[in-house]
Amino acid sequence: MPFAAFLDAPLAPVTVHAYTPPEPGPGEAAVRLEACGICHSDVMITGLEKLPLSPLILGHEGIGVVTAVGPDVTEVQPGDRVGITYFASSCGKCDACHNGYQRFCARQTNHGYTRHGALATETFAAVQSLVKVPAALSAAEAAPLCCAGWTAMGAIREARVQPGETVAIVGFGGLGHLALQYIKALGANAAVVDVSEPKLEHARDLGAIAVTTPENARKVLLKNMGGVDAALVFTASAAIVPTAISSLKRRGRAVLVGLTTDTYAVSPTELVIKGITIQGSYLGSKEDLAQVFTLAEQGIVKAKVSTHPLDQAPDLISQLKQGRITGRAVIAF
Ligand SMILES: [Zn+2]
Ligand SMILES: [Zn+2]
Repeated sequence: MPFAAFLDAPLAPVTVHAYTPPEPGPGEAAVRLEACGICHSDVMITGLEKLPLSPLILGHEGIGVVTAVGPDVTEVQPGDRVGITYFASSCGKCDACHNGYQRFCARQTNHGYTRHGALATETFAAVQSLVKVPAALSAAEAAPLCCAGWTAMGAIREARVQPGETVAIVGFGGLGHLALQYIKALGANAAVVDVSEPKLEHARDLGAIAVTTPENARKVLLKNMGGVDAALVFTASAAIVPTAISSLKRRGRAVLVGLTTDTYAVSPTELVIKGITIQGSYLGSKEDLAQVFTLAEQGIVKAKVSTHPLDQAPDLISQLKQGRITGRAVIAF
């Protein structure tokens, strides 16, 4: 019988138990999972007071093989190796959908949030968003690309990073360690800000030109280095955003990715005088997703993963919440 990591009710503890998946319906495929990464959004969802669906199977970094498809499904067929992302489907009718920004559709569905996710031995996914995964990639290393890699690449694209520029990566977890490698692959430089010494050590090993704690970030990035061209804020800490902004050069770009309900204050004068752009970035484009798989397949970018059995998922989610995971924790089935 299939097993999955469930959130049975809002704010309930995550538990692993057996379940019976339904037959795939229209627009759906049944997928037998090989691996699924654990993302900070899973942590965030476990903290929500209301859920659009419960019980809910968490997880949106899944790699697996299609075993059956619903009526009229032609996009994938049994035997295809696919990736399951947070973005599941969109309405296809609104301005966002027509303009190629399906991820901003107000009527989108999301794996592991509004519909069941991929932290399961078997699941059923929306085919609209399934991405084909190269056979050569290990499932554990491919899994984090479905959210962490994709979102990191989307943020780099939004930041319009050019070769030779210097980019601050604020928060060096699943997204940050991939972003650093993508930035280097673009011919740009990365400086890393994080509270954790082991994570800064990891950043040094991957070739960061500077690493710093948040307290010293402004001194290191602005005073010592003359400012950065762009700052990608992956952490959910709102308190660091003003520091990231004031570490920018003139005409610098701050791209916000980490989700938090906390707020922060910025100086309009600083933004105006320095011509600063602040932008939000959510997931990425289809091209971004294809590119992260290509870079992995070519061996240019490698996710740092630790693999675990499914019954450790609840504990891994709490470790991630406490910032105790370096790279990405992935469930291997
Ligand atoms: Zn995610
Ligand atoms: Zn739409």
